[in-house]
Amino acid sequence: MKIRLLMPAVDSASPLQFTVSMLIDDHIAIDTGGLPYLGSIAAQRQVEHVFLTHSHIDHVGGLPIFLDNIFQPGPQCPHLYAGEATWQALEQDLFNDRIWPDLNRIATDDLVFYRKHILDAHRPVPIGNYKLTPIPLEHLVPTLGYIIQTEQSSVLMAWDTAPFVEFESIATAIPNLKGIFLDASFPNQMQWLAERSRHNTPGQFQRMVAQIPSDVRLIAAHLKPAYHESIIEELKALNLPNLEIACRDKVYEF
Ligand SMILES: [Zn+2]
Ligand SMILES: [Zn+2]
Repeated sequence: MKIRLLMPAVDSASPLQFTVSMLIDDHIAIDTGGLPYLGSIAAQRQVEHVFLTHSHIDHVGGLPIFLDNIFQPGPQCPHLYAGEATWQALEQDLFNDRIWPDLNRIATDDLVFYRKHILDAHRPVPIGNYKLTPIPLEHLVPTLGYIIQTEQSSVLMAWDTAPFVEFESIATAIPNLKGIFLDASFPNQMQWLAERSRHNTPGQFQRMVAQIPSDVRLIAAHLKPAYHESIIEELKALNLPNLEIACRDKVYEF
């Protein structure tokens, strides 16, 4: 399984993660922050399955633009998966004709923009050779992380989240776990803000991965751009040999 973090920036050298999304083997996306900026319309049309973690703008902000980019009249459209609360936010707060056209109102039998799927936590979704299992995270709004599994490997992604009791048992029970993409949003000195906004600091990141075997790659993601350097310094000081920082140019192979 090949994973890319879609981290758009006008300056291509920028290491900052302004908005959030990942692409799995070119056809499954999780979140849409960078999805509408993927190189070509053809590449965007290859993405047939889009899973959302939650309703915050750095995760769903690219969705209307992505749907606009790939639109073609006819029944062809991507499958869109989200939890009930995220769907409510999309339908009431985003696709409401004010922020973006209400695509359900425009849609007809021959004109479909997306196919709606409502996710339940812990109920796996099979997609070809992949299985995606949503797990509830600890965030300001109902938020899902995902266990992504193939026959060869499993990967866990958990943004946006603060530490929560079940994380360790969920993560250590995943068979063949090769990597974890985990929230590291704020530096330790902003612990107060991490607590109020339900995100991680490097200190909390360390607690969350304490029982994870050292052969599992740990990829710190969702670093707030304004604090990028200090978060990296604090993450490096953890001396975790399996730690990596989210990188836009890397293809993560599992
Ligand atoms: Zn969020
Ligand atoms: Zn976020």
